[in-house]
Amino acid sequence: MKTIAYTCPYVPAEWIAAHGLRARRLVPLPIEGTSTIPRIEGLCLYARAFVNDVAASDDVSGVVVTTMCDPMRRVFDLLVRRVDTPAFLLNVPSTWQTVAAQRLYLDELKRLGRFLVRLGGHEPDKEELIRAMLDQAHGNGVHGTGFPNAMNRVGGPTPYGHGVPLALVGGPLMLRDRVLFDVIADCGGRIVLDATETGQRGVCGPFDRRRLAEDPLMELAQAYFRLPDASRRPNSELYRWLKDQLAQSGAHGIIFHHYVWCDKWRAEFARLKEWANLPVLRLDSEGDGPIDMVRTRNRVRAFMEMFQ
Ligand code: SF4
Repeated sequence: MKTIAYTCPYVPAEWIAAHGLRARRLVPLPIEGTSTIPRIEGLCLYARAFVNDVAASDDVSGVVVTTMCDPMRRVFDLLVRRVDTPAFLLNVPSTWQTVAAQRLYLDELKRLGRFLVRLGGHEPDKEELIRAMLDQAHGNGVHGTGFPNAMNRVGGPTPYGHGVPLALVGGPLMLRDRVLFDVIADCGGRIVLDATETGQRGVCGPFDRRRLAEDPLMELAQAYFRLPDASRRPNSELYRWLKDQLAQSGAHGIIFHHYVWCDKWRAEFARLKEWANLPVLRLDSEGDGPIDMVRTRNRVRAFMEMFQ
């Protein structure tokens, strides 16, 4: 079975599965020593690591990227010019409140479907789509990021560590950032909400069973299009979602993580800090090579002293 790689949560893995293809959410490591795309000013290192991981994967038949930030648009250009793997750019409108924007996203999914058929997938199968959506709803689905407490639609997050309950908020994490969970636990914290793109925030809400049975593609499009993110205009849904999740999780503080080249999340920090009624620690990271353990541990430890 051919594999289609993606990293953005606005790419519905169930839609790829409905074409008889395997969806792989690629969360970059990043891989040491790969240099298909050298360091480029302005291209965030998550995006660069994603391209390099795609180039290093010999079992990927196609890759889907979205328009959710400028670096990812650039990734599409780089993939087309420098990597042999066929690439597709999914337009995700940043405005989400109008019917026209919702229809555009649905049309984009249909266009993605034609790309998948050209890559060897079959025409979308309604029963396969429903099955993939139900599997996802039962936590057996095709998503998976490799993070310790990534949540499925049914279960809550698995509290990681023992100690002061904290939320982790921000953009995506690379696989190398899994150590963050250990560092926070070692310093006396416990992540009860992973509100990063690779955590619970990147998993769309439960599907409506009745609408799913009637028109699964429409239900899929509506559920994915509602995912909260800093890039949405307005991004009020992000704060509405965070408010609910913070209350449910009982977090006492927020660790806000972003990569230094990520304008989208760097810009969001000031608003989140002003909005949150909780202590907030900002952790930024280059995203190149391993995480700076000494600096990170010192900063988290200093933050945890506030809770004593
Ligand atoms: S880390 Fe930020 S800039 Fe980079 S791809 Fe993700 S959202 Fe875009």
